[in-house]
Amino acid sequence: MAEHKVVVIGAGMAGLVSALQLANAGLQVTVVDKAAGPGGKIRQLMPNGLPVDSGPTVFTMRWVFDQIMSSVGTQLESEVLIHPLKVLARHFWEDGSQLDLYADPERSLDAVAQFAGNAEAKRFTQFCQTARQVYDALEGPFIKSPSPTMAQMMSSLGPRGLATLASIGPMRNLWNSLGRHFTDPRMRQLFARYATYCGSSPWEAPATLMLIAQVEMDGVWAVEGGMHALAACLMRLGQKRGVNYVFNSECERIELLQGKVSGVRLAKGDSLRADSVVFNGDIAALRKGLLGPSLTQAVAGKVQPRSLSAVTWSMYADTQAFALDRHNVFFRNNYASEFEDIFMHGKLPTQPTVYVCAQDRGTGQLPPGAERLLCLVNAPARGDKRMSEDELLSCAQSSQALMAASGLHLKLESSASCIRTTPQDFHQLFPATGGALYGQATHGWMAAFARSNARSQMPGLYLAGGSVHPGPGVPMAAMSGQLAAAALMADLGLTNPSRKTATSGGTLTH
Ligand SMILES: Cc1cc2nc3c(=O)[nH]c(=O)nc-3n(C[C@H](O)[C@H](O)[C@H](O)COP(=O)(O)OP(=O)(O)OC[C@H]3O[C@@H](n4cnc5c(N)ncnc54)[C@H](O)[C@@H]3O)c2cc1C
Repeated sequence: MAEHKVVVIGAGMAGLVSALQLANAGLQVTVVDKAAGPGGKIRQLMPNGLPVDSGPTVFTMRWVFDQIMSSVGTQLESEVLIHPLKVLARHFWEDGSQLDLYADPERSLDAVAQFAGNAEAKRFTQFCQTARQVYDALEGPFIKSPSPTMAQMMSSLGPRGLATLASIGPMRNLWNSLGRHFTDPRMRQLFARYATYCGSSPWEAPATLMLIAQVEMDGVWAVEGGMHALAACLMRLGQKRGVNYVFNSECERIELLQGKVSGVRLAKGDSLRADSVVFNGDIAALRKGLLGPSLTQAVAGKVQPRSLSAVTWSMYADTQAFALDRHNVFFRNNYASEFEDIFMHGKLPTQPTVYVCAQDRGTGQLPPGAERLLCLVNAPARGDKRMSEDELLSCAQSSQALMAASGLHLKLESSASCIRTTPQDFHQLFPATGGALYGQATHGWMAAFARSNARSQMPGLYLAGGSVHPGPGVPMAAMSGQLAAAALMADLGLTNPSRKTATSGGTLTH
């Protein structure tokens, strides 16, 4: 099969994983990306010349990467240095209160008891049990299934899974469901925020998304060298297996011949022949015809609203001895207004929640003086339209005021110490998205089933990335890369039964 040529469009997480697994199976793989290097949303910016992770920062579900590494004959620890974090996240509220959640569940329980009282701590324990049950119920029938449908999922849930879903009220939204677990509004807010991990509003996301809380409680790791080291590692492993990476090369068309994929044409003018193509960009680009007019119908699944975008500030700043941990969240009292602004009014939130990743913290050493930070607020995905400087400025001021209310005053050395990325910038980086960072929003109970699986409607074209099943987030995108590679190999009759992949009926183990 060495003569079977595959072009992977995009060196994001899913594209890198697909390329690695396909090359490992002996196929000839070329990866093309319009960016200058690998990673896609996993990117580093250089305020003051220092590398700051400016995309994903929370590394969870390491078992996905353990499995990917073992499928190509290596181990995660042999390829990248990772450290488990003791503090999962530190949370601050406007009223001065503060809560840390820990990797150790007992410590979290104590912290919640001190923060909100023993009765709320009991409710927290019950919530953790429910989130665990929801995760366990959906892992096999949904997350690991290559192409779940509602009917197939219901039939594989079993009586216990069905009872779990019935108990949370799957038709309920996450916010309402959390109201049945917690009486302290801050606890409800903290766990509602997990809907934003897949770019959704807690008021519209299904209650099942509480499983994301479980994913985080199962562990958060810090990657030495930043998340970018993970992308670089996947590329290095691909190179060893013969993958050819071509950067600064936008693909402007997927070529077709006799109703089947035949190659790609690059914006620079050259064409690459391909028997199969894996598309790792957002499916919105295919639907919009950016890869050719014949592919607008190539993606199955229902069109859903865009997920969240963001405004980020990558910086090198002095926190003036403020006690940040690695992952920090600054909350306001009125949480609903953020999502009303974004999803109902299409504008930047006037009262944003602020996430701060302090990348030099969490592994034992405190940075002396200035340190590397990523600050992020959620934003509407309207980067294809104008967003005024005034709107951006007032969002920045409101974010600063919120951090200052908790005592965090950031001091920049110079204007070169901060690089801002807006929805417009994300739209340029990720075509046809409006800056949406998580594919389609998971709004409503059926939204998770509206995502396409790895097989497109066009023979020879496969889909991988956060906009297809199982959805956004680094580990999920990695799984979708596995699913695309597995679908392609299965179609070629190359599936190796000894290789465990997410498609092999729940054989992914952790
Ligand atoms: C600011 C931010 C914070 C995040 N935080 C987290 C987090 O903490 N934890 C987490 O798990 N996830 C997080 N995410 C989400 C996570 O980063 C993504 O879900 C995941 O990385 C997406 O991977 P992907 O495979 O979809 O590829 P992408 O990263 O979307 O990459 C796609 C690649 O395709 C290329 N491409 C597209 N079209 C073309 C074309 N026509 N020709 C050539 N190349 C093309 C692009 O240049 C890009 O490199 C965050 C994302 C962002 C942006």
